[in-house]
Amino acid sequence: MTNKYSGKCLCGAVTYEIDGPPVIVAQCHCEECRRLSGTGHTVGAVFSAQAVTLSGELAEFNYNSGKASEVTRAFCPSCGSPIYGTNTRMPDHQTFTLGTMDVTTGLEVQVVIFERDKKHWDQLGEDVVSFPTQPDWKPA
Ligand SMILES: [Zn+2]
Ligand SMILES: [Zn+2]
Repeated sequence: MTNKYSGKCLCGAVTYEIDGPPVIVAQCHCEECRRLSGTGHTVGAVFSAQAVTLSGELAEFNYNSGKASEVTRAFCPSCGSPIYGTNTRMPDHQTFTLGTMDVTTGLEVQVVIFERDKKHWDQLGEDVVSFPTQPDWKPA
C-alpha cells in the first residue's frame, strides 16, 4: 500500500503532496475545529512537516489553544478550504484535513478528541477511542 498522499483546496489554487505515513489520524470536536469547518468536527492526519510539499499561497490564522500553545490554521485565501494546522507544541508536524485529500485509502480515524464539545447533531463512529479533551500524547 502506498503512503503517499495528495490533495487540493476547493478552487485548486493550493495543492500538496505528502510522503507519509501519518503519525495519527484524529477527529476533533473542539469549538475551533467546529467553526473552522462549519460542521461538527475536523478529521486530520498528522505528518512530519518534512514529508510535505505544498504549492500555492496560503493565508494563516493564529489563536491560543487551551494548553498554552499557539495554533496556526492555514487555508486557501480564495476559496477558504482549511488545508493544515500546526501547534507550537509540535512545531515540526502539520495536521492535514482528510477532506482536502484526493485519495484516503488506508486512513481511518484512530482517536476522537474534545468529545466533550461534540454537538448532538454530529454522530460518532462506534469503534474509535474518545478523549474528553486533548490527550497528552506526542509523536514518537
Ligand atoms: Zn482554493
Ligand atoms: Zn479541534
